[in-house]
Amino acid sequence: MTFESLGLHPLVLKALNDAGYTEPTPVQQQALPAAIAGRDLLVSSQTGSGKTAAFMLPSLHKLANVPAESTGKTPNQAAQSARSRGERPRFMPARPKMLVLTPTRELALQVTTATDKYGVHVRRVKAVSILGGMPYPKQMQLLARNPEILVATPGRLIDHMESGKIDFSALEILVLDEADRMLDMGFIDDIERIISKTPETRQTMLFSATLDGMVGNMARRITKDPQLIQIASAATRHENIQQRVHFVDDLSHKNRLLDHLLRDTNIDQAVVFTATKRDADTIADRLTIAGFAAAALHGDMHQGARNRTLNSLRRGQVRVLVATDVAARGIDVPGITHVFNYDLPKFPEDYVHRIGRTGRAGRNGIAVSLVNHAEGVHVKRIERFTKQPIPVDVIEGYEPKKTAAPARRPGWRPGDGRGGKPGKPGQRSFAKPGGAPRKEGSGYRSERGSRGDTRRG
Ligand code: ADP
Ligand code: MG
Repeated sequence: MTFESLGLHPLVLKALNDAGYTEPTPVQQQALPAAIAGRDLLVSSQTGSGKTAAFMLPSLHKLANVPAESTGKTPNQAAQSARSRGERPRFMPARPKMLVLTPTRELALQVTTATDKYGVHVRRVKAVSILGGMPYPKQMQLLARNPEILVATPGRLIDHMESGKIDFSALEILVLDEADRMLDMGFIDDIERIISKTPETRQTMLFSATLDGMVGNMARRITKDPQLIQIASAATRHENIQQRVHFVDDLSHKNRLLDHLLRDTNIDQAVVFTATKRDADTIADRLTIAGFAAAALHGDMHQGARNRTLNSLRRGQVRVLVATDVAARGIDVPGITHVFNYDLPKFPEDYVHRIGRTGRAGRNGIAVSLVNHAEGVHVKRIERFTKQPIPVDVIEGYEPKKTAAPARRPGWRPGDGRGGKPGKPGQRSFAKPGGAPRKEGSGYRSERGSRGDTRRG
C-alpha cells in the first residue's frame, strides 16, 4: 500500500515525500482509509508505530479540501476592520476545526511539530498548542490567529473555553491522543466538559495503549460506530527492543552498575527512569559530576527549562536524560539507544511506554532494568503484561551478592564467593569516566537464560 493509493491530498503527499516516508505503517494502513472516509476510530497500537500521522494525515487531507470559513476573517482581521469602521472591535473567539487533546505539554508540542511537518505545504492550515505553563498573553496571541488546529492539554483549554476565548461549535475533528494516560492523570471531567461543547457531528478519533476499562467506557460514549483498530495490544512485544534485568543488592550496587552500564560505547543516548522527581535531580547531578552529559526532566521544572533540556537532547548535547514517567512520555528522539529503569515503574503499562522511548523509527533499542531482589514480583507482573520473559543478565565484577536458585547448591550461603563487593564503605558511587579500568568486551554476559529459573534466594 502506498500513500498515493489512499488518495491523500497532493500537498499532504508532498510533505510525506519531503519527510522521506515511503509507505504507511501498519496502524496508518488501517486508520487512514477509515478516517478519510469520515469514520470514528478507536485505536490501540504500540508506541513508535506512527499514530500521530495516522490521525493527522487524514485530518490535514480533510482541512486542505475544505474551503476557508465563510466569514474568512481571523479575530485580528475582524477587530481591525471594526476599528476602521469606527466601531469598537467585538471580541471574537477562536473557532478551531480540529482539536487534539494530549496528556502532557511535551506530547502536545510534539504533535504540533509533527503537524507542521505534515502540513508544511497546506499553508492555510495552522496548528498551535495551548498548554499550561505558557504565558497567558502568548496564548491569547496564538488564539487570535484563529488556527484551524488546536493541540492542547485539557486543563488550560478549559480555562480558555470557559472564558469564551474558544468556540468549538465549528469543530469537525476531535482527537484524544494517549487517552488512557489522560484518564490516569485525572482529566476525565475536563475531557467530558470539553467534548460537551463540541458538535455531535464531529469525527472522533481516540488513541490509547488499551481500550479496556475506563478508557473503553469513555470511548464508547464519545464515538459513533467507530472502526476498531488494534495493531498490537499494550502488551506489545517491542520486538526491536532487547530487554534485560540486572539484580542489585542495594543502592550503592545499583549506582555502580548504572555508572558501568552508561559507559557502554554502544550507547548513543540514554534515558534513565526514576520513580521520583527528586531522584531524577539527584541522579542527574551525580552523573554530571561523574562526567556524563546528563540532565534531569520532570514535572516540577518550568516549561522553559523542560524545553531547553528536550532541545539539548534532540541536538545530542544531552546524552543521558534522567526522567520521570510523565515528563518523558512521548519523547521521540531517534538517538536514544538505551533505556534504563533505575526504578521499576508502578504499572506494567508504564514499562511498555518507557522502553518505547528507544527503538524509534524502526531502529533497535536496549532496555535495562535495575531491580532489587525484593522487586522480583514486579518484574513478573511486567512479564505477564507483555507476555514476554525478560532475561536476567549479570556482568562480571557487578554480580549481585544474593544469587539465584540454580546456585543454591548444598552449602551455598548468600554472599559467598561471587566476586562483586558492592557498597564497600568509602567507595564512590560514580567514578570519573575513563578512571575505572573498563573490561573490554565485558558487555552483557548472559549467565542465565530467563529469569524464570533465577533468584529464589
Ligand atoms: P506513536 O504516536 O505511535 O508513538 P509517532 O507518531 O510519534 O508514534 O511516530 C514515531 C516515529 O515514526 C516518528 O519519528 C515519525 O516521524 C515516524 N513515522 C511515522 N510514520 C512513518 C512512516 N509512514 N514512515 C516512516 N516513518 C514514520
Ligand atoms: Mg503518539
